[in-house]
Amino acid sequence: MCVGCRAVLSKRTLIRIVRTPQGVVVDPTGKLAGRGAYLHNQRSCWMKGIKGALAQALRAEISQEDIDRLLAFADTLSDESFEAQGPLA
Ligand SMILES: [Zn+2]
Repeated sequence: MCVGCRAVLSKRTLIRIVRTPQGVVVDPTGKLAGRGAYLHNQRSCWMKGIKGALAQALRAEISQEDIDRLLAFADTLSDESFEAQGPLA
């Protein structure tokens, strides 16, 4: 399940985020050890997740450094809306 939109959408790719001793990092290979959470490869899910549910899901404090790293990754993602015809599209 995506911790951003709380939905499972099979057409979207889920990207793993892992809490490591070095902080909260993106784990595109899914191979890092540690408590993980998932977000869709869609920027809006990352924005929602980073602001709230991600820290809960990882049971971790997310530092400003982690947030910067996650936002930088989110910037590489599409911000296509689920409601493609909506006002935010
Ligand atoms: Zn999502």
